[in-house]
Amino acid sequence: MAATYRVGEGYDVHRLEEGRTLRLGCVTIPCGFGPLGHSDGDVLAHALCDAILGALALGDIGSHFPPHDARWAGTDSRRFLEHAVTLARDRGAEVANVDATVVLERPKLAPYIAAIRDELAAVFGCASSEVSVKAKTAEGLGPIGEGRAIEARAVVLLRLVAE
Ligand code: MG
Repeated sequence: MAATYRVGEGYDVHRLEEGRTLRLGCVTIPCGFGPLGHSDGDVLAHALCDAILGALALGDIGSHFPPHDARWAGTDSRRFLEHAVTLARDRGAEVANVDATVVLERPKLAPYIAAIRDELAAVFGCASSEVSVKAKTAEGLGPIGEGRAIEARAVVLLRLVAE
């Protein structure tokens, strides 16, 4: 039987503030600022979670983890991703590949990209070569360019392996 695929896309944005911890793709990026958020504010993990949920047509991260629920205060967003991956596995789907872009004025993410890809691949249960993470600046434009926000976009392809 031919493989069946489902595609999903995700997007997230968070404000940045001094004194917060910057987490991206389940990796801590050492700098003096980070996202405001109910959880750890990991925009990349949130965009990827929404992409998986979107591929499954199972709503969005907020419908699975209500943002004002005290249980998710300060939560490591790996937990959200693991939940989405479990929902996919329950439906006979596995991550075929993902492609994501983080938009952030600073710091430069190049030194951290390999670690982020490895972390995400471990969560998804796929090879790091199936996980693409790209980084861009906003060229100084708008709130991201002014260093007041961070954004992530992601596309996930799920392969249905059951049946
Ligand atoms: Mg978010």
